[in-house]
Amino acid sequence: FSKIKEGLKKTRDKMSSSVETMLHSFTSIDESLFEELEELLVMGDVGVSTAEHICDALRKKVKEKGVTDPEAIYGMLRETVAEMLRGGEELNISTKPSVILVIGVNGVGKTTTIGKIASRLKGEGKKVVLGAADTFRAAAVEQLEVWAQRSGAELVKQPEGSDPASVVYDAVAAAKARGADVVICDTAGRLHNKKNLMDELSKIGRVIDRELPDADKEVLLVLDATTGQNAVNQAREFQNAAGITGIVLTKLDGTARGGVVLAIRENLGIPVKFIGVGEKVDDLQPFNADEFAEALFA
Ligand code: GDP
Repeated sequence: FSKIKEGLKKTRDKMSSSVETMLHSFTSIDESLFEELEELLVMGDVGVSTAEHICDALRKKVKEKGVTDPEAIYGMLRETVAEMLRGGEELNISTKPSVILVIGVNGVGKTTTIGKIASRLKGEGKKVVLGAADTFRAAAVEQLEVWAQRSGAELVKQPEGSDPASVVYDAVAAAKARGADVVICDTAGRLHNKKNLMDELSKIGRVIDRELPDADKEVLLVLDATTGQNAVNQAREFQNAAGITGIVLTKLDGTARGGVVLAIRENLGIPVKFIGVGEKVDDLQPFNADEFAEALFA
């Protein structure tokens, strides 16, 4: 938990101190308080509609509970944020094997995230196969190979330029043959070539469905928190093409834009499953709504 607190320090410094100062300047709760709060939340990358939603929820709570002290809003805000983020955080990977498909544009931290998840699962005693289905960049395969060695996972790869769906097929076959618990597949992240990328993802999805019809499947979209509202837009693009089951939000340690977690959850209705708070192997944390809310509004 201290890692998350440390990682969210920049966001907290921006959000919590400004909200606290604002609340302190009010002697009673009135409409202008909610307007100022909404503005501060928007500045914290929470997004306009989500900020409105939070303030509506607070207005309702204030009325219901008969709250009159402006500073009491702070705790209620934390509670409201936690409520909004709760539900669906757990990875659903019970079948043997199960599949985690990892998607996202280049540079967001996809490969690093795969390495971190592989290490985490290995640490739980699981046998992991990695499929290097970003066949477009040789460097991506090399990087994944380093993570495979580090985490003790098996890597399945093909020469550069191979059909990504064919790599996924091989990875699934290897996992079946060796009795692996989880197959994690990397994918290419060229959003500028949208049609191709989306075709590729659906072809990969079809291979997985055909080879493992009854397996638990996760499609994790990796987003870079430092890009703020842009991350929300990226999520929308991918959501239209692939059935995303969860979000991994990376680089929360390097940004004051942690509020974007709320925007993603609220606008897309997809749970955040992990957050990245650094470059090292144990800097990936399972998302916990209450801890996150507490780290934001300590
Ligand atoms: P990919 O192109 O999406 O596969 O991205 P990479 O996994 O290669 O990551 C791009 C850069 O972001 C690398 O320098 C990573 O070390 C860094 N990175 C990934 N996740 C995090 C994170 O949670 N925090 C920080 N600070 N850096 C990260």
